[in-house]
Amino acid sequence: MGWESVAYLNCFRLCKCLRAVGNVMVLFVLGLVGLSWYAVVPAHYGRTLASGPPAAAAGSFLAIAVFTLLAAMSVWSYLTCVTTNPGYVPEGWMPFPDEASAQSELDRIAAAGPYGAPSDKSDPRRPRFCKHCRAWKPERAHHCSVSGRCVLRMDHYCIWVVNCVGLLNYKFFLQFLAYTLLASLLAVALLVKPVVDFFAGRVADFGAPTAFVVVMLDGAFAAALLGFLAMHAQLVSHACTTIEMYEKERPTPWPYDRGTRRNWEEVMGRSKLSWLLPRHTPEERQHMLDSCLGQRLLSGAGAV
Ligand SMILES: [Zn+2]
Repeated sequence: MGWESVAYLNCFRLCKCLRAVGNVMVLFVLGLVGLSWYAVVPAHYGRTLASGPPAAAAGSFLAIAVFTLLAAMSVWSYLTCVTTNPGYVPEGWMPFPDEASAQSELDRIAAAGPYGAPSDKSDPRRPRFCKHCRAWKPERAHHCSVSGRCVLRMDHYCIWVVNCVGLLNYKFFLQFLAYTLLASLLAVALLVKPVVDFFAGRVADFGAPTAFVVVMLDGAFAAALLGFLAMHAQLVSHACTTIEMYEKERPTPWPYDRGTRRNWEEVMGRSKLSWLLPRHTPEERQHMLDSCLGQRLLSGAGAV
């Protein structure tokens, strides 16, 4: 059976439909943030701010300000993650000084057979060749079946962000998880009392049914995000990706683990302001690319 037949039978081709589903997810996420903001601000705390006693108005102002800030940061980091190139491998990149060295490595891989030499499997720093892209892959890069390209330090394809999560947008993905978790928890905390008062018959508030829906949705969302964020915090602390976590053979000690603090700085940046804002400075971006690509770009290789 030739490669063409194998590719035809590859079930991961079906993953391409995830892109179409993902577009609905973008609307869902933005819609949920919008609905939460409506329930917290115009439907409840905005009214107290406009007509309540001074102490309640001051509390409402604080609630509106903090929630609006968290919702805005959630949307900003989300859209940045959706629209940022995750780190596609530059065209023409190869880990060898010349074509002859690359060909001799290709010959060695072919001679090792379909399962490769044992060292090829256990060491993530080995030179690898992507049969889909027909190009060399830098260490820690993986082929994304949905986007059809190799991605630097690929973590996973995320249906929620309609994008592959990799080297250049992983930070924004983590920020989206964190800001959305905080915004969801705050929305639940702010809306529980109005909902309870409404169902107890203490107030006749027509905004309460919306608040009830938001409490249910945001509560479920927060529970899921908490587990997901805890898992990624563990991965970042150990300089590991989701794909690497599931690999059967991994070298010990893990060659990319530089200690918890350095591992976090590698993803989030060195300045604490950088941890809060969904952007990379040009220096941070270049440092991340160098850490994956090295200085071995052939002249004429396309930029990321
Ligand atoms: Zn590839």
